[in-house]
Amino acid sequence: MQDLKTRGETSNPHEAPWRAPEAGGKVHCYLCPRHCHIGEGQAGFCFIRANEGGKLYSLGYAHPAALQIDPIEKKPLNHFLPGTRVFSMGTAGCNMGCFFCQNWDISKSRADQVRSSYVPPEDVVTLAIRNGCPTIAFTYNEPTIWGEYVVDICHAAKESGIKTVMVSNGYIAREAFHDIYDHIDAANIDLKAFTETFYGRTTLTHLQPVLETLQWLKNETNVWFEITNLMIPTLNDAPPETRALAEWILENLGPDVPLHFTAFHPDFKLRDKPKTPPETLHAARRTALDVGLHYVYEGNIYSDGAHTSCPSCKAVVIRRSWHDVEENHLVDGCCPSCGLAIPGRWANSPGDISARSSPEAEAAAAERYGELNL
Ligand code: SF4
Repeated sequence: MQDLKTRGETSNPHEAPWRAPEAGGKVHCYLCPRHCHIGEGQAGFCFIRANEGGKLYSLGYAHPAALQIDPIEKKPLNHFLPGTRVFSMGTAGCNMGCFFCQNWDISKSRADQVRSSYVPPEDVVTLAIRNGCPTIAFTYNEPTIWGEYVVDICHAAKESGIKTVMVSNGYIAREAFHDIYDHIDAANIDLKAFTETFYGRTTLTHLQPVLETLQWLKNETNVWFEITNLMIPTLNDAPPETRALAEWILENLGPDVPLHFTAFHPDFKLRDKPKTPPETLHAARRTALDVGLHYVYEGNIYSDGAHTSCPSCKAVVIRRSWHDVEENHLVDGCCPSCGLAIPGRWANSPGDISARSSPEAEAAAAERYGELNL
């Protein structure tokens, strides 16, 4: 494993870590389980790690293609700073090949095929503070593939008390896992299905590495994490598969990891499947609760399955409508009715966010990024 040497370099081309030279000018990228062996002048599967002159470069570094402010519930994270805004960003490219990708306009593009702005790590933090966001999310495309940019933003964010979130497909190599996740506060990992057939045919990847990432998160980090399963009619919504997925989570991660069943809409190469019927999500949620998971949600529909209920006394402790928090009754992270501690990260400590951005930095950011219209 190589030392990260990404701090302080803010201009392209940005040399990428997690690489090893090979014969004939090739470079082995071992950032994710694809282990691309990239020839001179070529890029890896993800498009944004490229071999130029026998060196590996990260083409997405400091060049986000999407910047937006979202509710944290949209990631989705229901047990992490509920009701707050999150500064959300993504680049071009992806290391999976999901036929149903809902952000395919950037994830299936090369770095030179998207409109992007130059935003160095320190400026990401300044923009988050300016926009009242206590958290920065690496999202929209797969953040693992721009892991060195993620790490540098995390360093800058930590200095200002800003939290960081990975919204990820979980497809990361063991060699890079701690380099990135040791700096992260929270994550939502897509568990896209619970069959190798689905992963192989519909995402062009494999299931087992994603399960291993979830186990590493549970056993080796303090990252707060939740899981999303997008349910696609006829492809991954069979009740026995849902039960097996929930049982695996219970057995390997415990009952308190929140699980989100979310609704699919036809997109990209998967337009022949209908939207997920709400009843599919209701049934999946009932199954996962029956299995013994404590916090199971329904997403992308209006549903009572968006609320957080106390698993002991069943009182609704957080009431939501889609991504909006309508009521939050938690008292110091506990159920107000029976006192049970509800797992999660419920509040930033007072004073967590420092007033690090100077008036000069604010003014410079306002001038440089005013056109972003955040
Ligand atoms: S991060 Fe990109 S280049 Fe590296 S192994 Fe994965 S897909 Fe290949």
